[in-house]
Amino acid sequence: MNPIERLTEAFEKFPGIGPRQARRFVQFLLHSQSGYRGALAEDIKKLGANTFQCKLCYRWSIKNGDTKGLCSICANSHREKAVIFVVEKEADIDNVEKSGFKGLYFVLGGTIPLAADEPHKHVRLKELVARVERDGSDLVLNELILGLSATAEGDHTRQILAETLRPMSEGMNFKLTSLGRGLSTGSELEYADPDTIASALSSRQ
Ligand SMILES: [Zn+2]
Repeated sequence: MNPIERLTEAFEKFPGIGPRQARRFVQFLLHSQSGYRGALAEDIKKLGANTFQCKLCYRWSIKNGDTKGLCSICANSHREKAVIFVVEKEADIDNVEKSGFKGLYFVLGGTIPLAADEPHKHVRLKELVARVERDGSDLVLNELILGLSATAEGDHTRQILAETLRPMSEGMNFKLTSLGRGLSTGSELEYADPDTIASALSSRQ
């Protein structure tokens, strides 16, 4: 395979990217300045060396001094530690931040497919349970918000999470809530505007 074919195949593996878009990306790069391509390649190389995944929320961050394994949100003492917002993917956090949310996060890492037999193989369910056990038994947790997409898989994921977390919320005395109406059917947090998220947050139940 030549570099054009290899790159096309690499882009096809990106989430939501099909063969046609992958070819368009490669065409774009072919027409770009070599400086741009070089800088992009450098940034991709550095991703592995200068980044870490937060041990609390699983968000990726850039290493910057001694972070103790925590991202800037988890390490920020001004954040409301009693509320955890569970999102599907990291990209959702940017939008939720713009809505004015001041609590902490947990990145689930996707949704659970409708036909999945073993949900924990698709998302960080065990890790979420461990986080809740930790924060719940320290009595710092007041509320866990399930901020999943208003899609069939999002609903399915919410149900499975609720089945697992409901008994914990009763035992450890924290509220288990879901984003309220306002997120229209089929919408994903990543693409919802911050006002919509803010109103879905205020109508959570
Ligand atoms: Zn974090």
